[in-house]
Amino acid sequence: MDAHVPQRPPVGGLMTARIIPIRDMRGTGGARRLSPALPAEPDPGTGILLDRLQRPLLDLRISVTDRCNFRCVYCMPREFFDQDYPYVPHAELLSFEEITRLARIFVRRGVRKIRLTGGEPLLRRDLESLVGMLAGLRAELAVPLDVAITTNGSLLKRKAGALAEAGLRRVTVSLDALDDAIFRRMSDVDFPVAQVLEGIEAAAAAGLGPVKVNMVVKRGLNDGQILPMARYFRDHGHVLRFIEFMDVGNSNGWRLDDVLTSDRILEQIDAEMPLEPIAAGQAGAVAQRWRYRDGSGEIGTISSISRAFCGDCTRARLSTEGSLYLCLFGDQGHDLRGLLRAGATDPQIAAAIGQIWSERADRYSELRSAATALPARRIEMSYIGG
Ligand code: SAM
Ligand code: SF4
Ligand code: SF4
Repeated sequence: MDAHVPQRPPVGGLMTARIIPIRDMRGTGGARRLSPALPAEPDPGTGILLDRLQRPLLDLRISVTDRCNFRCVYCMPREFFDQDYPYVPHAELLSFEEITRLARIFVRRGVRKIRLTGGEPLLRRDLESLVGMLAGLRAELAVPLDVAITTNGSLLKRKAGALAEAGLRRVTVSLDALDDAIFRRMSDVDFPVAQVLEGIEAAAAAGLGPVKVNMVVKRGLNDGQILPMARYFRDHGHVLRFIEFMDVGNSNGWRLDDVLTSDRILEQIDAEMPLEPIAAGQAGAVAQRWRYRDGSGEIGTISSISRAFCGDCTRARLSTEGSLYLCLFGDQGHDLRGLLRAGATDPQIAAAIGQIWSERADRYSELRSAATALPARRIEMSYIGG
């Protein structure tokens, strides 16, 4: 089969993922099995979890829908995500109550950042209620919990106020071009870029600033927009971050030649607006930060192709229908929804999560960089959550 002709996923939206059922294995002596077990020992349910590479679990990304109103060429190409695409049926989605219950368990186990994503998260009806429920965990558990959203910005103008009122602190908007024609070519929809820009200003006005703006750079498509984007967002006081086009999923026809590395991007900007590095911020941060030497703002680079950051990866992902993924490039999900709906208690679920995380050794990007054999089938980003 031609490597660039993606295979359609099975009905039910499970993409190319393998969902691992979590069976009740109490009383088996803790033997190592492919399906993670519910340990017999009660789990304390609190305290930081470390994986096999000593990385703590600090960030949880939750995909609230696998649907999107855009068809970005690098994420949900129209020829693959067409009207026959088998999205996750509504009954299979985690409810807001289920998401909040799992989030509470994760926060008790050390998670301090929750990011709602998708698909397009603002398409999920009444998302501000979920934001309110998650923000409520700050007071309930007396922890500093960061709740954020990554969105394409198309509905942000309408929703920014309600989201901020519900307790959202930060928003990241994905935007790949200022030029309307190039924007439409990247997002492959009939939607004006001006409305995304209005959404960004509405978010800032609602107190969700400084807004982070993520630009995926695909060589030959939008690399001519690097400087216009840098100038515009510097002048408007937002933080632009350049993302290297990644080989996530099976549908975007990724080729190394399409990647413009962060070094090349930085060279372009530095030649016009001199830059200097900012010392690394929080552990697990994906972006390297740079500031304009004249003090007029900062930018970021996310270099998952040219500079893998797996050693510092503190992120887990909860898919639309409640499977836990340990890596963006993973092909196995651990079925937490199955546990929830089978009546497992919070300590049992906490124990299962602890066991799953403690066995984690994923470092896909580092292995890619080392050019070793890689799994050929990968999960789509719109399903697992970017
Ligand atoms: N729809 C929302 C949005 O676009 O912000 C949230 C989900 S989207 C999958 C999350 C992020 O993943 C976006 O910033 C998007 O640009 C990025 N992304 C998707 N596919 C990518 C790829 N192949 N390489 C790099 N980034 C990608
Ligand atoms: Fe939709 Fe976001 Fe993917 Fe674009 S990047 S298709 S907006 S989910
Ligand atoms: Fe984390 Fe996997 Fe990305 Fe490495 S490739 S940074 S382990 S999500």
